[in-house]
Amino acid sequence: MRLRGNRRRKTDDRPDPQDTSGLAVELRGVRRQYGRGKGAVHALGGIDLVLSRGTFTAVMGPSGSGKSTFLQCAAGLDRPSAGSVRLGGTEITGMRENRLTELRRSRLGFVFQAFNLLPSLTVEENVLLPMRLAGQRRDRRRAAQVLAQVGLADKAGRRPGELSGGQQQRVAIARALVAGPDVIFADEPTGALDSTTAAEVLGLLRHAVDTLGATVVMVTHDPAAAAWADRVLFLADGVFAGGLDRGSPERIAARMAALTSRTGAMARAAA
Ligand code: ADP
Ligand code: MG
Repeated sequence: MRLRGNRRRKTDDRPDPQDTSGLAVELRGVRRQYGRGKGAVHALGGIDLVLSRGTFTAVMGPSGSGKSTFLQCAAGLDRPSAGSVRLGGTEITGMRENRLTELRRSRLGFVFQAFNLLPSLTVEENVLLPMRLAGQRRDRRRAAQVLAQVGLADKAGRRPGELSGGQQQRVAIARALVAGPDVIFADEPTGALDSTTAAEVLGLLRHAVDTLGATVVMVTHDPAAAAWADRVLFLADGVFAGGLDRGSPERIAARMAALTSRTGAMARAAA
């Protein structure tokens, strides 16, 4: 994503100027296999996915359907066994580890269920950490800007332990936004929150997409959370088994129930 008015610094990993596709995420034939031979687990069985910039996508699926593996491969945290991944127009397949790490820090945002803030750092320092690790200058104005965007302008000097769970997750969202990333990957971002606080956090992600042009890919098992997305994609046994646009929590839950009973029946038949 590009935050309006946020001039990006030039490094080798900036989007290819020839890339006019406007695509934030492109997965082509992505497979991920754990182990070999008879005991091999095919966690992803050929994923094709294209996501435009400025979209909010939820990924759902029964336990063991490959959600975590999908997110890890899409975010350059794990390497597919086959296929290719492009992020913001940059091919990351085969990219060297140090360059991939740099790309994750400067061009991707992450929001996890467990917040993953460093307790000894202030809120502001936590927000600036990815930029600091990427060797960029400490931009306190930028930190103040993103903290204001998540409604925490007055908390910059606090430590995470002094904040509520919802506030901590908002700090994590500010940290994910700070570098103006191509994509924000969220893994069960509301898994540790009550439903009211969860709605606030999801509203912020929605707002980031609608007003800041962010691109969000979120894994969740919660239909109410998924309903905040533009589109829900359903994973079953490592492949996408359809999608739902602008679905209500009830419709999403019904699709999930159908998927779970189907894959459950398949697992019982195979056992
Ligand atoms: P989900 O997040 O939807 O629960 P995962 O992506 O964690 O699914 O797992 C998909 C499949 O891959 C499961 O069958 C799981 O047991 C298997 N799997 C995941 N990680 C590993 C691993 N490190 N080694 C072996 N098998 C794994
Ligand atoms: Mg998982």
